Amino acid sequence: MAILVLGGAGYIGSHAVDQLVEVGKKVVVVDNLLTGHRAAVHPKASFYKGDIRDKEFLSQVFEKEIIDGVFHFAASSLVGESVESPLKYFNNNIYGTQVVLEVMQERGIKNIVFSSTAAVYGEPKVMPITEKTSTNPKNPYGESKLMMEKMMHWCEQAYGIHYVALRYFNVAGAKLDSTIGEDHSPETHLVPLILQTALGQRKEIVVFGEDYETPDGSCVRDYVHVVDLIQAHLLALEYLEQGNESTVFNLGSNQGFSVKEMVTAARKITGKEIPTRVGPRRAGDPSMLVASPDKACQILGWKPRYTDVETIMTTAWNWHQTHLDGYENK
Ligand code: UDP
Repeated sequence: MAILVLGGAGYIGSHAVDQLVEVGKKVVVVDNLLTGHRAAVHPKASFYKGDIRDKEFLSQVFEKEIIDGVFHFAASSLVGESVESPLKYFNNNIYGTQVVLEVMQERGIKNIVFSSTAAVYGEPKVMPITEKTSTNPKNPYGESKLMMEKMMHWCEQAYGIHYVALRYFNVAGAKLDSTIGEDHSPETHLVPLILQTALGQRKEIVVFGEDYETPDGSCVRDYVHVVDLIQAHLLALEYLEQGNESTVFNLGSNQGFSVKEMVTAARKITGKEIPTRVGPRRAGDPSMLVASPDKACQILGWKPRYTDVETIMTTAWNWHQTHLDGYENK
């Protein structure tokens, strides 16, 4: 019996594949490699290149392999891009998930662990955000993920497909041995951008706004280490396998760091200057997003280990120093 990891060549998906293999699971990966990297996929996983929206292709994977659970990371995930190209997000994320659920229903597959996002909450006023905080997405990306959660809810009612939706806050860091890490093209995420600046690959970091109502005026986010984040996925799979009810969990650390604090932490870790310039706000950025992870800790028994920002930054720095061109030339 294997776990099918959709989007298993991406940053977060590849860490999931790695940990599943490490705990002895048989793993099957599907990825269209539009943003993922073949080199990021653990050699022990079976790999199928293709798109989840291609139902014939996906059905064939289920035909060839014996799948008993699905991890679903295959989605577009950039807020700004989603505002400019909402239909891309509805097609890839919502339609893609529809096909996944259709195939699961046809094949009688009952468990799916699904990658959701803090963007489903929009801009809540009260921190930390709990799973009871109302959802009110402010961009098509968050809307698409909320819709995907709702699709799973209705498919559970109709077909008994059980799900856990994990709402990620800001995922960062790399595997501790630096074999896999974060490599996007183009890069838009704060931690890799800061470290590329430390390496001299970029001139400066533009701080997107310093007039927010936060202690230093720059946006505050809750950074969670990718290895801890994936640990919660393995626990979520166990939770479903034990027959527990479908639900959602926040994955964060209840600690907020501002953009400027992240740059300061990176200067300390790297010993580099990391020039910054203050620019305008980025459209759609909430001032502060901090999660309460209590529900995941209590119900899943999640125990994040790499919660301090120095560890997150150090593991990411080790990856960047050993992968100057990301997965290229590796
Ligand atoms: N950010 C920034 N400069 C950059 C990239 C990001 O100031 O070049 C800020 C961004 O406004 C946000 C935080 O860093 O407050 C994290 O952004 P990222 O894109 O990494 O993740 P998001 O919060 O959008 O999921």
